Amino acid sequence: MKFADIGLSDELLRAVTEAGYDEPTPIQAGAIPSVLMMRDIIGIAQTGTGKTASFVLPMIDILAHGRARALMPRSLILEPTRELAGQVAENFEKYGKYHKLSMALLIGGVQMGDQIKALERGVDVLIATPGRLMDLFERGKILLTGCDLLVIDEADRMLDMGFIPDIENICTKLPANRQTLLFSATMPPPIKKLADKFLSNPKTIEVARPASTNVNITEFLVKTSERGKRETLRGLLEEEDISTAIIFCNRKTTVRELAKSLQRYRYRAGEIHGDMDQSSRIAELDRFKKGDINILVASDVAARGLDVKGVSHVFNFDAPWHPDDYVHRIGRTGRAGAKGRAFTLVSPSDAEAVDNIQKLTGHKIDIFAGGERQEPTEEIGENQPPQAKKSRRGGAKPKSKDDAPRAESKSSASRRPERTTPDAPRQKPVRDDEPDDGWNGPMPGFLSVGFGS
Ligand code: AMP
Repeated sequence: MKFADIGLSDELLRAVTEAGYDEPTPIQAGAIPSVLMMRDIIGIAQTGTGKTASFVLPMIDILAHGRARALMPRSLILEPTRELAGQVAENFEKYGKYHKLSMALLIGGVQMGDQIKALERGVDVLIATPGRLMDLFERGKILLTGCDLLVIDEADRMLDMGFIPDIENICTKLPANRQTLLFSATMPPPIKKLADKFLSNPKTIEVARPASTNVNITEFLVKTSERGKRETLRGLLEEEDISTAIIFCNRKTTVRELAKSLQRYRYRAGEIHGDMDQSSRIAELDRFKKGDINILVASDVAARGLDVKGVSHVFNFDAPWHPDDYVHRIGRTGRAGAKGRAFTLVSPSDAEAVDNIQKLTGHKIDIFAGGERQEPTEEIGENQPPQAKKSRRGGAKPKSKDDAPRAESKSSASRRPERTTPDAPRQKPVRDDEPDDGWNGPMPGFLSVGFGS
């Protein structure tokens, strides 16, 4: 199927061609014609499938055919995190460059004043996280009665983050006869219930088995000990042919400490986690996208849905507590048809999490043995770090071995255990995206209103 066959306007076809897309992805081919016919949609699709364009593209055409100047917002896109909301806004700018539509990005962590000014000028599209939207609504700054088109994106993540009551509340503020599009990687019962309550005769489009992992990603478990994790990781960074990598940790403190440790070893590493204010997160992400750094150490919430081209590797410094997060983490690589490699460092305390991941994804993950594939027959959880091979290709390796600080050199590290964060009790990770983190800086440029020519 071609883009020209799915009913989009010439302006959008131009923008899509300029974005470099040859043909619609399955979720786009399935959803776009129905959205244009004003149907409600349930899209069961993960990030990486092109689902953002499957609602942004038809939304632009629908809005372009509506009234010229918006006094009240005409459409609303709900996203679970600020990063995802920012990315959807970027998509709107990219696809909407030949339209004169305006948007406001309503997210926590940036000044409310700029957002209120944008709302007062009148916007066509609101892209919002539920917390900030409700906050503005309760202050009487938004009227949602003109929103005829609602997108609830990443609904299962909204559920994880406790946003479902907010979403139900928001749905009651919109016109009853609106069009609603709901996207979710999985359809747990509470999401099914939400869809039954707020969607009318929806068409369901499912493009990937829930929680299935991408076939372009080669996955490995790497046995290590809690204390040996940093050394094991550095071994892998040397061994692997890395262009860019994201390293996920379960705790924010681990993110900070690991990024610093890698920097001491002269790796070009940065960090992103929920304790950082929005402008710092955006700046760090920009450095990563531009190639100023090629390793990003990240927490789950900050990294959710990150769409960075060409990430060759994902490392799980800790196995994620929620198996769903595993699928999302490794989905940062192997995007848009590229090949990717994902390594999960496993100490005895990660064993239970790995079990849950394997149950969810329905396959055993191979155990990494220094580049050799090993059948997943061994039990995970022994204390021996793998013997990292000497680097053949350079990869993310620092320029010279002498660059590394003496105190943490390989030989001394093998004699002396590294200082690591004491193992905190296993607990649900803190929700670190919402509410507002109290940062009061100005709204970053690309996050404000106005796009199109
Ligand atoms: P998403 O699932 O929305 O996060 O999109 C994943 C990636 O696929 C993004 O980098 C998009 O720019 C890209 N993409 C979206 N639609 C297409 C398409 N039809 N062909 C190729 N790449 C696409």
